[in-house]
Amino acid sequence: MSVLSQPHFHNEAKAYEFLESVIWADGTACPHCGTVGGRVYDLSGVRGKPSLKEPEGAIRHGLKKCGECRKQFTVKVGTVFEHAHMPLHKMLQAVHLIVSSKKGISAHQLSRVLEVQYKSAWFLAHRIREAMRSGDLAVPFGIGGGAVEVDETYIGFKAGAAPARAGHAHKMAVLALVDRDSGTMRSFSIERTSADSIHPIVLSNISREARLMTDEAKLYRKVGKQFAEHGTTLHGAGNYVNVSDRTIHTNTVEGAFSIFKRGMRGVYQHCAEHHLHRYLAEFEFRYNHRQANGVDDRGRARTALQGITGKRLTYAA
Ligand SMILES: [Zn+2]
Repeated sequence: MSVLSQPHFHNEAKAYEFLESVIWADGTACPHCGTVGGRVYDLSGVRGKPSLKEPEGAIRHGLKKCGECRKQFTVKVGTVFEHAHMPLHKMLQAVHLIVSSKKGISAHQLSRVLEVQYKSAWFLAHRIREAMRSGDLAVPFGIGGGAVEVDETYIGFKAGAAPARAGHAHKMAVLALVDRDSGTMRSFSIERTSADSIHPIVLSNISREARLMTDEAKLYRKVGKQFAEHGTTLHGAGNYVNVSDRTIHTNTVEGAFSIFKRGMRGVYQHCAEHHLHRYLAEFEFRYNHRQANGVDDRGRARTALQGITGKRLTYAA
């Protein structure tokens, strides 16, 4: 028995049952009238229009009818899976593969494993990244005076930028914050590593009572004064930990960046800047739901699936 031998990865009816158990844990929710736990009828055995491939019409798995508004729906309605032309059991396999690969999985690899077209795999992966994107920024990091590490990095190439041997102007910039107490991170695709881009993110995501940890970059000098403490390390001088206080460092956020960079270099070589935030969401999700935070592959897949609702897909290839 392997993880992928579970029935919902192979049987379409089981796939619907599984997703329903995740999405409708608090009762079946009608996407049309919004009733939760109301009267719902199972329309099992209903078939779609006859086609060449399915002369009797394909079985419409998971079809329900709302007893309140009389409209039909399945658990996919209103989720990022709604308009995907792929059997649900394959999409559930894809979710499992993506959440359990530390560095991610390329669309080419996904297409080979699932035996679907490359383009379908590419779109599916972006749907899943959207599900992994956290919409919850309500609670600032560093509440109660915890340490929050902030760092920026550069990856890949900006479209249209002339290749340069040195400097960062031709690369895409990323800012990450790590809350040391909860072991979670937030990452942002930013225009450039300037005070204009960075300060609003730092101020809106970190509690003023936090201990802010950054490198010596001038960028943080001014904004750092707004926090209870601002600890800096001198990377230029080879000090990765402040010798006078060993809790002052940015090693955690740098560790998180190194996983992201290895994945982006090894698996997602070509990433357009307007998609960068989706890849960041993927790495951030796996980081925040990692084994060290007490989450296993199954739990991670379940959490990712809970995120398929309430997201709108608005991207062009
Ligand atoms: Zn309804």
